[in-house]
Amino acid sequence: MMSYPVIKSRSNRPYQICNCCVMDTTDEDIIFDLNGVCMRCNEYKERIEPTWNHGKGHEKELEQLTTAIKKSGEGKEYDCILGLSGGLDSSYMLHLAVKEWGLRPYVYHIDAGWNLLVAEENIQKITDKLGVELHIEKLDWEEMREMQLAWFRTGLESLDVPQDHAFIAVIDKLAGKLGIKYILNGYNIATEVYADPASWGKGGGPTGDGTYLKDVIKKYSTKPIKKYSFTNGFKHKFVVPFIHGVKTVTPLNYVSFTKKDMIDTLSREYGYVPYGQKHFEDLITKFLEGYWVPTRFGHDIRRAWLSSLVITGQMSRNDALKILEQPPLSEDESKELFTEVASKLGISEKELKEFHEMPECTEKFRSQEKIYTFGIRLYEKVGLEMRIRK
Ligand SMILES: [Zn+2]
Repeated sequence: MMSYPVIKSRSNRPYQICNCCVMDTTDEDIIFDLNGVCMRCNEYKERIEPTWNHGKGHEKELEQLTTAIKKSGEGKEYDCILGLSGGLDSSYMLHLAVKEWGLRPYVYHIDAGWNLLVAEENIQKITDKLGVELHIEKLDWEEMREMQLAWFRTGLESLDVPQDHAFIAVIDKLAGKLGIKYILNGYNIATEVYADPASWGKGGGPTGDGTYLKDVIKKYSTKPIKKYSFTNGFKHKFVVPFIHGVKTVTPLNYVSFTKKDMIDTLSREYGYVPYGQKHFEDLITKFLEGYWVPTRFGHDIRRAWLSSLVITGQMSRNDALKILEQPPLSEDESKELFTEVASKLGISEKELKEFHEMPECTEKFRSQEKIYTFGIRLYEKVGLEMRIRK
């Protein structure tokens, strides 16, 4: 039914690839210097590497942070919140938080209905062995399914939005409810310093903006969405940190490790099973990043995370190029996923194929992006003034 076409740049620019990493002109906004090195590599070397220093020499900062976290949780059952996806970053952070840093995280997992068995088993193994209680936030599947279909109907590139927004909304909800003052975020320079370029996934609105989600639902959902939790930039960037006083911290940047260290440690200690590509821990993301986006939009998301490994010295540029010669998924795997996703969504493969071939979305949706960027700045100022007055 389908073959896996070669991933080609849609940009009108002549093809060029960075001499240092593997980012190329599939990012329409990429800029190269006279040596053919991209702006990301230059920024990394000037701004990130000197202060980060591959996680080395941050013992004091880590000590201060973990002390503050423990102090904030004195006399309470938990001292921080940690979301566990079953992926490498959050699993490794849970390991460090409990075993190395002596923290007592409230561990939660969001089940949006797309979990793959390998991720569920990893989560079970790690929490069992560490003896931490796992809190599962199960989202209403009928609503998730309907919302996912609504996003397919738009023709937009970013179709992870119903799931990703729910992840932010659940954190905001827990931050307000639990009275815990720290959220451990698994973001780390070592494996994800190069974010997906802004030119990928254009259209739609900010993932954290409930106004945008409600507008898509109004226009493209065939049923009302009632149980799903919405959040917005104001709540996420102002209410949570300044009213609830909950700080989001990224302690993995204070530790020195490589992706290989993470896999080795987790496999040895917990029998963790690596699931291949980054983000391949759930079915819909694996499908979108491994098949949908490369074949429909010409973006190979692996370029960004392979470049992160290359620039931080964990992989040679040649090895990254070799990986990119093969598509993210084989033709058989793609076919299998296609069938599985259509079946989970309750539509025929023909319908899913029609979504794949439909024109790209040019429609504008309501969004509070401008208003809340302005509002957040203003309120942060007010918040600061109040603190000085105290
Ligand atoms: Zn580069």
